Amino acid sequence: MAIASINPTTGETERTFEPFSAEEVAGRIERAYEAANTYQHTSFADRAGWLRAAADLLDAQADEIAELITREMGKPVAEARAETGKCASAMRFYAENASRFLTDHPIDPSEVSASKAYVRWQPLGVVLAVMPWNFPLWQVVRFAAPALMAGNVGLLKHASNVPRTALKLQDVFLDAGFPPDVFQTLLVGSDAVEQVLTDPRVAAVTLTGSEAAGRSVAEIAGREIKKSVLELGGSDPFVVMPSADLESAVATAVKARCQNNGQSCIAAKRFIVHTDVATEFRELFVKRMSALTIGDPLDPDTDIGPLATEQGRKDVEDLVEDAVRHGASILCGGERVDGPGWFYPPTVITGVTPAMRMYREEVFGPVAQLFEVPDIGTAIDLANATDFGLGSNAWTTDPDEQRRFVAELEAGQVFINGMTTSYPALPFGGVKHSGYGRELADLGIREFCNAKTVWVG
Ligand code: NAP
Repeated sequence: MAIASINPTTGETERTFEPFSAEEVAGRIERAYEAANTYQHTSFADRAGWLRAAADLLDAQADEIAELITREMGKPVAEARAETGKCASAMRFYAENASRFLTDHPIDPSEVSASKAYVRWQPLGVVLAVMPWNFPLWQVVRFAAPALMAGNVGLLKHASNVPRTALKLQDVFLDAGFPPDVFQTLLVGSDAVEQVLTDPRVAAVTLTGSEAAGRSVAEIAGREIKKSVLELGGSDPFVVMPSADLESAVATAVKARCQNNGQSCIAAKRFIVHTDVATEFRELFVKRMSALTIGDPLDPDTDIGPLATEQGRKDVEDLVEDAVRHGASILCGGERVDGPGWFYPPTVITGVTPAMRMYREEVFGPVAQLFEVPDIGTAIDLANATDFGLGSNAWTTDPDEQRRFVAELEAGQVFINGMTTSYPALPFGGVKHSGYGRELADLGIREFCNAKTVWVG
């Protein structure tokens, strides 16, 4: 895949980049390794100062960065601006809390026949981050902020369609005062990942992306016996029970499916509604999905911009066509928007069965599958009838039902009366084919640390 900024609103190529040669990649790894040798000895206070400065730079340049993101991958510019602000918050969160998260963990010496015992968290060294385009700043920052605070060094291989955002972030870290080469962007395609990950100077890898990319990277990491974290796809359920505040559930359902033009791993993708409220939910949901404004994502009044890539739109179309061919019904949307750019409208589809690809595969666009169920047991079974297990959402005010959803939904997170989202203070990650490991919070910063046991006799 060429490394290029192609504006999804117009289809025009705005800039292309020559990928780094293998020699250039090797040189960058060496620089990262050298940087890691000294950077690991810097203090939390120094790292926090640089990270706070990076947050200030993001805030100061938020408009410019938001426009860049929108031009590269098409999300509405207000969402791009919010993403930039969220990155600044996460940086400040880790600047504030990293030393507390990584303080020595004491162990009762009398339990282990020692005079003193504890766990010390130490950085692993150079960490490769293979990242997706859908939240091109946030996905990287939620890796980089904790990793750099822990004393690791980052090598970013970003998605090939967001090179300018990737380079911008490198500049931000450098301008904020981080020592040179502590965070570098590698302009390479996915075919270069093996070279980087098999290099002995690289200690670990984190990948956010598709299941296929996850399998490939995990295979290399396994062979090399290197630590890996995988944040992969999802097909999150959104269950609505009769006691739910329906107005609020519908408004949230539309947002949960359509934000980021429907291209979010934790977007609600399967809406599972109890029979008692199914008709009302369907009517309101279809009405609101149909009312969203599709258009230029730089226009502040636009709700839905284009999908990020031409292939991405084709993938969505193929899944919808396959479902319709096998008997599903379209309640709204379902046809690409004519004209330039890769627009696809908010779509609601019913009658999805296991015979259809979208029953099993992730639909990465604003397409909502709607199901009706007679009881909570059927709702939970259907919610869990997927290989994915990233987020999950359940709407009910009944405490017993809430307890069942919390206990029985197979997912890395469950949100009750809300939509799955990420906060710096909440651990984030999945189970099943959605991946393993956690990002954010205290768990996230420890993923790329050696938990070194210290025993003193
Ligand atoms: P993708 O095609 O898997 O790409 C993600 C990254 O992996 C890109 O940098 C890509 O590089 C690289 N890559 C692709 N195939 C690879 C391979 N065989 N070996 C090594 N690297 C490889 O995914 P995407 O289309 O960009 O992003 C959408 C996917 O990401 C969705 O499935 C979504 O659910 C998932 N996602 C998950 C989370 C989460 O936190 N769980 C968050 C956001 C997105 P190139 O661009 O050069 O191909």
